[in-house]
Amino acid sequence: RKCFVFLRENLLTLLTIIGVVAGTILGWGLRASGHEWTKREVMYFQYPGELFLRMLKCLIVPLLVSSIVSAIGSLDLSLSGKVGLRAIIYYMTTTVCAVMLGIALVTTIKPGNDPEAYSQPNVTKVIKRDTLTPDTLLDLIRNVFPENIAQATIASYRTRLVYDMNDTNMIKGQLETYKIDGDYQNGSNVLGLVCFSIVLGITLGKMGDKSRPLQDFFHTFSEAMMIITGWVIWLSPLGVFFLVTAKIMEIDSFADLVGRLGLYFMTVLLGLFIHGFGTLSILFILATKKLPCRYIAKMGQVMATAFGTASSSATMPITIGCCDDMGLDPRITRFVIPIGATINMDGTALYEAVAAIFIAQLRKVEMSFGKIIAVSVTATAASIGAAGIPQAGLVTMVMVLDTVNLPAEDVSIILAVDWLLDRFRTTINVVCDALGAIIVTSLSQGDIEKARVAHENDKELA
Ligand code: ASP
Repeated sequence: RKCFVFLRENLLTLLTIIGVVAGTILGWGLRASGHEWTKREVMYFQYPGELFLRMLKCLIVPLLVSSIVSAIGSLDLSLSGKVGLRAIIYYMTTTVCAVMLGIALVTTIKPGNDPEAYSQPNVTKVIKRDTLTPDTLLDLIRNVFPENIAQATIASYRTRLVYDMNDTNMIKGQLETYKIDGDYQNGSNVLGLVCFSIVLGITLGKMGDKSRPLQDFFHTFSEAMMIITGWVIWLSPLGVFFLVTAKIMEIDSFADLVGRLGLYFMTVLLGLFIHGFGTLSILFILATKKLPCRYIAKMGQVMATAFGTASSSATMPITIGCCDDMGLDPRITRFVIPIGATINMDGTALYEAVAAIFIAQLRKVEMSFGKIIAVSVTATAASIGAAGIPQAGLVTMVMVLDTVNLPAEDVSIILAVDWLLDRFRTTINVVCDALGAIIVTSLSQGDIEKARVAHENDKELA
């Protein structure tokens, strides 16, 4: 009977995990069948998964804006300030811990000193440009201030690097398309939308009762988006099944996973594992005085979807749903999860630091203390600037490479294993967001209670 209750409560999570595993097995089976799968055939296999991803992506912008505006509007202004500050401190602390862990591992294991690793792959031809780092940092800040909010829902700003974000896949060759002048890339400026929504939420809060109709509108809108999410979630087992199958079918070769890049791959994986289950757990225990296992077990659905889609933005609606299921205060989760999915990417930060130093080791570039600091700072910025889409970290890594004077085309060295690392780092990115929501909720409980009592007293006096 207990078993039955467990199955009923976790059916969707189990089915999604089965989807990932079955997709992996089928993908391998189809490869092993000896048939040369053409791009078109792979596209057909991927098609149901692509539709699932499109449904999730379609929810991102409306859910993000309505959730942040209604959450801030429904909290007391000083309270949302405190919640926001706690969330930012959590995001920065965990990202810095992830980068430091990555650096410690890569400088100890030294995967790039392996003579095997130095056999160079064909590097992609890229027009070299200097001063990439300042340009990318300026673009990051530029995106915080969208000049046109309607345009921000479809495009973000990039000065030099323009790449094809064509839905589910943006691999290979994207680094060939460089532009000298500024341009808008094809993909929402989520960072700009987050900032605009925060400002709008604060303004509505300040306007008091006058803003009630608009606040009610955003609240109802966000509720409606969550109901649609609830329907789309039921497609996730099939969606991730087809996405994973197609991905495995289209990979050129798996040899690098165990061969030339094997040690690098294992270093990143070890880092992600220690960060996800060690560092974050310790922070969780310190902040909430509770064990994280029970909560992490409830995140199965979120983790499987993040792994299957390789996109923390696409997983965001499911992460919010998971927090609702855990009984967290929606005013807090709807505020911190969309922001976390946009700027808090610990897995990406760790990977950026490891990859840059790994390439420096291959190239025999001496890593002075100053350079290591530069890598830490740019890896953090690169993870904040990376969009929550597949392999976005690979593109922002050009900035990290530039700080150690390595050419942009060197990212093609790690391209062969990046698709898989991307899935693992995205999983850690979303786990960190969800744990953050629990931590911030737990730390803010006292303030919320105080505000509620004060509010009730005011009412009684009136
Ligand atoms: N795919 C990652 C995410 O969506 C970003 C990256 O590291 O490429 O979180």
